[in-house]
Amino acid sequence: MDFKQLFDFSRSTHTLASIERLLFWDQETMMPTQGIDIKTMQKKELAALIHHRKTSKEYEKLLSQFIALDSGEILNDQLNDDQKRSLELMREDYHKMKKLPVDFITEFAEVTSKATHVWIEARQNDDFELFAPHLSKIIDHMKKKADLLGYINHPYDPLLDEYEPQITTQTIDSLFDPLKKALIDLTQQLSHHSIPDQFLYGSFDRTAQFSLNTGILNNMGLDPKKVRLDQSAHPFCMPIHPTDIRLTTHVQDAGFYQGFSATMHEGGHGLYEQGLDPDFFGLPLAEAASIGIHESQSKLWETFIGQSFSFWKGYYPIVQETFKEQFENISLDSFFHAINAVRPSLIRIHADEVTYGLHVILRYEIEKAFMEGKLSVYELPEFWNAKMHEYLGIVPHTNAQGCMQDIHWASGLFGYFPTYALGNLYAAQLHHTMLAAFPDYNVRLENRDFKFIREWLLQQVHRHGRRYYPQQLIEKATKKKLAVDDFLSYLNKKYLPISARA
Ligand code: ZN
Repeated sequence: MDFKQLFDFSRSTHTLASIERLLFWDQETMMPTQGIDIKTMQKKELAALIHHRKTSKEYEKLLSQFIALDSGEILNDQLNDDQKRSLELMREDYHKMKKLPVDFITEFAEVTSKATHVWIEARQNDDFELFAPHLSKIIDHMKKKADLLGYINHPYDPLLDEYEPQITTQTIDSLFDPLKKALIDLTQQLSHHSIPDQFLYGSFDRTAQFSLNTGILNNMGLDPKKVRLDQSAHPFCMPIHPTDIRLTTHVQDAGFYQGFSATMHEGGHGLYEQGLDPDFFGLPLAEAASIGIHESQSKLWETFIGQSFSFWKGYYPIVQETFKEQFENISLDSFFHAINAVRPSLIRIHADEVTYGLHVILRYEIEKAFMEGKLSVYELPEFWNAKMHEYLGIVPHTNAQGCMQDIHWASGLFGYFPTYALGNLYAAQLHHTMLAAFPDYNVRLENRDFKFIREWLLQQVHRHGRRYYPQQLIEKATKKKLAVDDFLSYLNKKYLPISARA
């Protein structure tokens, strides 16, 4: 039998999934409000169709002609390496899919849908008691999910594996422990300084902001024939196919920087999707390696590049030209310091580069404690506040600003948070490697030349898709194992001089 038959079947399934993503994009950007009912019906129909295809006898039969589903042995010696690796990953996905019964998936979808609904109200009214029983149910489901997926060492391992294949709780501990200590130290050293930043806020024309944002995407190398930028409440990147990527940003009158920075972040995600090989669409080789690797691409552009002095040396004149009134009399130095101020804050999504990791580690430790049965839902607010105090030196006045600030737990995303911090660690190693590979790296940035970065990332990360597991991919690209050193030396090198000058 021809591999093409299996490829065709899988590509059809992926095409349906691409329509599902297009519906999501439409809902968040263009859909009139009353379109919600038909949209829900459309999404439900498609989801059922996709699930059916992925677990169908027909697919199982096709797949098992090339790879033994139990042992993983490749059954056809005519296949090339790309095809063999695709089969291994397809078998892995198939088993994961089969381990979660349809009843569990349907019930879990209902539980999280209700919980998300309640979470919105509970957060609005700062009513943790209202949310607690729903969170409790979700944790029960997480424990069940871990049992269904199976694990050897820790019940959190299979949850992590969903988003970051092959990483374990033990590895995360070995990274997060030294990271936590160093970040707490650095935060304490840096957060005494008050840095003026009032010029970042005021009134900024939205049309001008939008063209500034489109401009940076073009400079980064996102192809306008394949990528579009729109507005949504929360910025996101929705890949339909390597030739059709939907990005959104959120521009506000009150300031241009948050929207600009969000655009660079989503642009980094977009470049990754644009760099996947369209010829493999339908196979795992045209899929991103993991959520953490995806986040490394967005963080690299948003912070490592987009908050660097060299970048702004080249880009600040454009911003000054666009917003003359606001920035005419503000020096590059003042601007650079303002966007890099380190301030412990309550809300993760607004956190700076130094404190961000502590927010993530806090959630990781809570999720792990839930899974180990060491923490009950009713102890959560107190536990949260104690950790905030220990790590960041501040305590929220409300649970809305504390343990109910993120939607992740209500939507059942357990095991997801660590990928945010892993993204920074991966990005730091890639950044470090690029600095060594291109001695004129900073000069190029000053000249707004980003092509070499995009091309390097394409070769080292994007074009591989899921060919390598995340840690393997990083080890191949950076010639060393995943560790916290590069991230910490990056932070020290950047922030200690800022603090000395402030
Ligand atoms: Zn992201």
